[in-house]
Amino acid sequence: MRLLADLQRAPDAEVPPTIAPTLPVTRARTFDTPEFAGMTFLEVETRSALNKVSGMPFGWSINPYRGCQHACSYCLARPTHEYLNLSPTTDFDRTVVVKTNVAEVLRGELARSRWKGEHVAMGTNTDPYQRAEGRYRLMPDIIRALAQSWTPFSILTKGTLITRDLPVLVEAAARVPVSASLTIGTLDRPTWRTAEPGTPSPRARLDAVRALNDAGIPTRVMLAPIMPGINDDPEQLTAVARAAVAAGATHVTPIPLHLRPGVKAAFWPWLEATHPELVATYTELYGPPAAGRKGRATLPEDIVEAMLRTVRDARDAAWAERGNRPPEGSWPDRARPGEHVTGHAGRPSTNPAEPPGAEPPVAGPPAEQLSII
Ligand code: SF4
Repeated sequence: MRLLADLQRAPDAEVPPTIAPTLPVTRARTFDTPEFAGMTFLEVETRSALNKVSGMPFGWSINPYRGCQHACSYCLARPTHEYLNLSPTTDFDRTVVVKTNVAEVLRGELARSRWKGEHVAMGTNTDPYQRAEGRYRLMPDIIRALAQSWTPFSILTKGTLITRDLPVLVEAAARVPVSASLTIGTLDRPTWRTAEPGTPSPRARLDAVRALNDAGIPTRVMLAPIMPGINDDPEQLTAVARAAVAAGATHVTPIPLHLRPGVKAAFWPWLEATHPELVATYTELYGPPAAGRKGRATLPEDIVEAMLRTVRDARDAAWAERGNRPPEGSWPDRARPGEHVTGHAGRPSTNPAEPPGAEPPVAGPPAEQLSII
C-alpha cells in the first residue's frame, strides 16, 4: 500500500497508488494555479455514491470529496482522513480525495427499483462546494441526477461556489424540495482568517444566502461553531444573526463548538498556536486532548444556553424589525437541547469505500446532536 509520502513524490503517477484497501487511486494530481498551491488531489473511482445514515433527520448522504481545502480548525471530519492512512491535521486540507465518477454511480443507484426517493443530505461530512469543485464540477450532475429521480435534497456548505449552480438548483426545485444552509460563525475578519483560512469571506457567504433565497431556494444560516473566547462575544453573535436575517435567511441556527476526541486532538495544536491564552480555559471546559473519550465533547449547559439565547434574541429582534420572519414549520428554528455540533457535522463513515448501507456509527455525539441540516 502506498502512503501519502509516496503519493506526494509521484504526482500524475502512472502506477495507481492505494490509500485504503477499497479505495484505489486512479491518479494523483497537482495543479499549477495559485489557488491549489501545495494541494494534492487523489482521484478515485468510487463504487458507491449514496451513504446510508442512521439516527438522523435524513436517511442518506453523498460526499463527493474526502478532505477539505477550507481547512477549518474545528472540522468534525478531520478524523475521517485517518481511515485513508492520511493525517487529520497536516493532510486533511492538503490532500483531497475526489470521487470523479460519483454522479455516474449515483445515477445507477437512483435507478434501482428499491430506491424510495428519501431525502439526501450533502455537506454532512466534507464541503461539496470546496474549491476543488470549481475544477471538478461534480455537483451539477449530482443535482440533476437527484432531481430526475424525484429525490429531495439539501446542501450544507461554506462555499459561495454554490451560486454557480443556481440555475441547476432552481431547475431541480421545480421537481423536488431543495434547500441549502450556509455556515457563518463570525463576521470578524481576523477570526475568520484564523479559524477558516480556506473559506470564502463571511460577507461573500451572506451574499450567497441572499442570492439563493432570492432565487427561491430556502436557505438558512448555521451560526457555527460558537467557540468560547473566540467568537462568542455577544456583539459578534448579534452581528451575524442580524446580517443573516438581512440576507433573508429562512432560519438562523446557533451551534456551540463540539469537540469529540478525534477532533479535539486536531483542534488543540491550532488553539495553542493561535490562542495560547485560551488553552487553560478550553482544558477546563472540554478536558485535555489526551483525556480521550473521558473528556467532554460539549460545553456546560449554562454556557450553551447563554450562547443560544443571545443568537435567538438577536435573530428574533431582527425579524421583528424587518417583519420578514419566515413561517414556522418546515425547519426547526434552533438547535435542539444538547445540539452542539460544528460545520459539516454528519456522521462520518468508517468505511472509506462508503458502500450503501455500510456507514456504521463512530463514537461521537448522539444523533440528535448532529441534526444540523
Ligand atoms: S468544517 Fe466544513 S468547510 Fe470547514 S474544513 Fe470541514 S468540511 Fe470543510
